[in-house]
Amino acid sequence: MLDYVELEADLGQEERMVRDTAREFVEEHVKPDIGDHFEAGTFPKELIPEMGELGFYAPNLDGYGLPNLSETAYGLLMQELEAADSGLRSMASVQGALVMYPIHAFGSEEQKDEWLPDLGEGKAVGCFGLTEPEHGSNPSGMETYAEKEGDEYVLNGSKTWITNSPIADVAVVWARDRSAEDSPVRGFLVETERDGVTTNKIDEKLSLRASITGEIGLQNVTIPEENVLPGVSGMKGPLSCLTQARYGIAWGAIGAARDCFETARQYATDREQFGGPIARFQLQQDKLAEMATQITTSQLLAHRLADLKERGDLRPQHVSMAKRNNVRMARDQARIAREMLGGNGITTDYPPMRHMANMETVYTYEGTHDIHTLVLGQDLTGIAAFE
Ligand code: FAD
Repeated sequence: MLDYVELEADLGQEERMVRDTAREFVEEHVKPDIGDHFEAGTFPKELIPEMGELGFYAPNLDGYGLPNLSETAYGLLMQELEAADSGLRSMASVQGALVMYPIHAFGSEEQKDEWLPDLGEGKAVGCFGLTEPEHGSNPSGMETYAEKEGDEYVLNGSKTWITNSPIADVAVVWARDRSAEDSPVRGFLVETERDGVTTNKIDEKLSLRASITGEIGLQNVTIPEENVLPGVSGMKGPLSCLTQARYGIAWGAIGAARDCFETARQYATDREQFGGPIARFQLQQDKLAEMATQITTSQLLAHRLADLKERGDLRPQHVSMAKRNNVRMARDQARIAREMLGGNGITTDYPPMRHMANMETVYTYEGTHDIHTLVLGQDLTGIAAFE
């Protein structure tokens, strides 16, 4: 596997173990069938508890049976999962960074006890409802609202593009609390079996097909007051979750790119044209050299992010830079790898075109490439080009 500047030398024993466990898991349980799942538009649901048993959900958190791994180990895990498919990494990102993280960071003791062990073991599935049909890049414009009635809240609104909503047991729904002054955004734990909750699946996707995506409809859904996340109010709630997930994406995208590179390198040495392997042509070597260089620089950025996160110095803008750069890199390099495989490259027999299609989602979700550009622009100039 590509590790051109020997980053492996700096890994601890635990980090190597996590990486190797994830690598073996995807080789054995995911890679053989993932092309079929992509074609069928299904997620291999039997893997959800298996991934839980292996500690793949929120392993960088502590307590409640969670392993409290280093941020590097967590990143390496995301990288190995996405080397199989972005749908698999999305499963781990949503469950860990977007559902378990807010419960861990902002939940009551009762909420933590009720949900964290089951989510961690993959006995329960969670989803994160922020995006709405009319509010994507600007989620603060959200229309979903909650109103207090006695010791209950009544929720109304709709969320869309929600990973795992059709298979989720619980949704972290972000909504405006109209009973409070200035209607702040609050997080609500909504069990999907409650009356008035619908979770229709979105079937027409041409990207991230091996991942279930749906809507969340909320029509006069009543939940007890105890289901509100007590520890946060305002957009910093959902945004802090997104920073966690984006950190994982910055690592994960490298995995997809690396899988494309390894596939292309192997193919170029095996495939013969004009009397020898296509790897002997300078044009093909140029593509491999560029791919390896881009992957290596993205790896360096990800490892630096892990160090900053570990010592508490990671800023959301650092994560924006890495998500923006590494996903664009993976999107570009997947296309080059596809090209190197010729006609075979457009099939599900080889991973590059599947990764390439997936990267269209990864480029768009968790803040589009454009929005991260604007975040950096604001950080660099002090002037916000969006608000
Ligand atoms: P829009 O915001 O309408 O953007 C359209 C275009 O306009 C983009 O190119 C954008 O960059 C550009 N644009 C917007 N504003 C500006 C600006 N100010 N300046 C310049 N350009 C701008 N959401 C969740 O809450 N939970 C999930 O689990 C989840 N999973 C997803 C899974 C999939 C498969 C997909 C595709 C999306 C998912 N999302 C999820 C939603 C995702 O986060 C949104 O799609 C994303 O935020 C973009 O919103 P939008 O699609 O409404 O695009």
